[in-house]
Amino acid sequence: MDRGQLVPDELTINLVKDRLQNEDCEDGFLLDGFPRTVKQAEALDSFLNENGNSIDVALLIDVPFSFILERMTGRRVCTDCGASFHIKFNPPKIGGKCDLCGGNLMQRKDDCEDTVNERLDVYEKQTQPLIEYYKNGNILKTVDGARTIELVFDDIRSLLGAVSK
Ligand SMILES: [Zn+2]
Repeated sequence: MDRGQLVPDELTINLVKDRLQNEDCEDGFLLDGFPRTVKQAEALDSFLNENGNSIDVALLIDVPFSFILERMTGRRVCTDCGASFHIKFNPPKIGGKCDLCGGNLMQRKDDCEDTVNERLDVYEKQTQPLIEYYKNGNILKTVDGARTIELVFDDIRSLLGAVSK
C-alpha cells in the first residue's frame, strides 16, 4: 500500500466476505474502497448472489486527477484518533493538531505526491474499468465530486436515500 499498489485480490475478497457476514450487515452495507478491480467486483457479485442479494448502487464520485492530487497531498490524519483533515479544504483549528482529541496530525505515506501519482496510474489500469462494469449492470450513479464537501455529501445522501426507500 505504501508504494501505491493494491492489496492482492484474494486477500481483499476474503476480508470483505468475512466482514459482510457480521450481523450489522444484515440490513445492508456501504463499501468504501472496495471493489477496486473487476475481479473483485465479480467475486462480490457472485458471493451476494449466492445469498440472494445484490448491489443496489455503485457510486462514482467523479473528480479530475489534478483535484485528486491536491486533495490527497493536502490530507493530514490524526495519529491518535484517525480523524482526517485537509490543509486547504478542511483545516484544523490549530495547525498540526487534531480538533477532536488534540493529537498530532501527519501525512500518510500513501498521500505523498509520488505515491498518489502511482495510485492514479493503478486506478486507471485496474479500477477505472469498474465504471463500465457497473454501467453495464445499470446501477452506476455519478456524483460531481469537484465541489464542496457539503454539496457532494448532500448529493450522495439524496441518492442513497432514494435507494433505501
Ligand atoms: Zn485526533
